[in-house]
Amino acid sequence: MPTKLTLYNTLTRKTEPFKPLDPTKVKIYTCGPTVYSSPHIGNFATYVYWDLLLRVLKFNGFTPYRVLNLTDVGHLSSDADDGEDKLEKGARQSGKTVWEVAKYYSAEFLRDFKKLNLIEPDVIAKATDYIPQDLELIQKLIEKGFTYETHDGIYFDTSKFPRYADFARLDLNHLKAGARVEFSSEKRNPSDFVLWKFIQPSEKHDMRWDFLDRPGYPGWHIECSAIIHNTLGEPIDIHTGGIDHIPVHHTNEIAQSEAAFERKLANYWLHCNHLTSEGQKISKSLGNGYTLSDLEEKGYSPLDFKMWVYQGHYRSERDFSLESLEAARVRRLNWRNRVARCYQEEQQNDSKTAEKAISFSEIIEPLNEDLNSAQVFALIDNTNYTNLFFWQTIESLFALGLFEGYEQESEMYIENFIEKTSQLASPILKKRAMARAEKNYAESDRLRDELKQYNLTVLDTPNGQIWQYIK
Ligand SMILES: [Zn+2]
Repeated sequence: MPTKLTLYNTLTRKTEPFKPLDPTKVKIYTCGPTVYSSPHIGNFATYVYWDLLLRVLKFNGFTPYRVLNLTDVGHLSSDADDGEDKLEKGARQSGKTVWEVAKYYSAEFLRDFKKLNLIEPDVIAKATDYIPQDLELIQKLIEKGFTYETHDGIYFDTSKFPRYADFARLDLNHLKAGARVEFSSEKRNPSDFVLWKFIQPSEKHDMRWDFLDRPGYPGWHIECSAIIHNTLGEPIDIHTGGIDHIPVHHTNEIAQSEAAFERKLANYWLHCNHLTSEGQKISKSLGNGYTLSDLEEKGYSPLDFKMWVYQGHYRSERDFSLESLEAARVRRLNWRNRVARCYQEEQQNDSKTAEKAISFSEIIEPLNEDLNSAQVFALIDNTNYTNLFFWQTIESLFALGLFEGYEQESEMYIENFIEKTSQLASPILKKRAMARAEKNYAESDRLRDELKQYNLTVLDTPNGQIWQYIK
């Protein structure tokens, strides 16, 4: 390997060489979605970034083992332990039960995950499957004296965990002063958070479990600590999430896990930056939170969106627009056509480009510098020398569907689409070569039109004809 992988670690605020505990099983945990509404591009950008992380790890000879959770139990709509439960709200609005809502949106999320060619997690952990493990962890925190009880739940006392502010570099005094106005609950410190919420007799809450002889449900943060403990074990190598997770969710995960198990939760913390859309924060009322289906209806492949994501860096603030998506679509079409050309040239066995293609180390070097995909993309655009092996390497890193395609007839993605396309186009190209030799240009034009039904056109090059995709 020419270079070593380095990653920016939120824990130390430094870019560090990556050293896993066990290269044959690099333990990774990704905070997953709350499944109460359709996931939008902002949600999916996160998983697209982490897909590249997995593939780059593999390229460096590591074997990742990744767990992703699905929050299918309601948690409160704000970090401040109040507000309405998201899932219960979703159910009320759609006239479905909370269980139906969770099931429906989990399926939708996983379907879109597939459409983006993302590596399937080794474990998909549903929060509702880990309630006994949540309670075991809470019990442990109670026994160790990290909790207190109020009329509405069991809280983690953050003043008992001296490192609480460290991860997010929080100023707790400032937090206290700022919170004084609205800080009226029985919480001892503004940063304390709920581990388990009691359901009041007057309250309607469909998802409920018994603990301490009362019905209740878990707080937002506990599931991640419980799932990590039971699927991976502390410390894990890499914990990923969005930067909005840093000050509350991940800070609380660390507090719970490290207080209970007295081991570091994770060695590397990776956080991706916010995604805005059309210049503004993504919000329902603005209608700028496109789903993948929205983009498909506008004629874009989910993989065009993936291309768009990799044009920037995961730690940069990004602004999505349909205009920039169009540019990504054109770039991806261009790459697919370059692949198609390499494929045909190598079929004809007259490829002279192999020895000049970009080297493996030129591709991996920028990626090993904290996943700089944009630099690799620029390199690809700026070279004329590629071969099929090169494109296979690119595809195994970015999974942009460069060899695959959508077949209108069967309405499905075909894995070796390029081969299938070539089989369809070859006889037509042969006939067209004959027509041209006979100077029968009407027939030659007719054959060009015939290719259109397969979404293809033909390019006349000094080495003969090459079929190309139209879109
Ligand atoms: Zn989490």
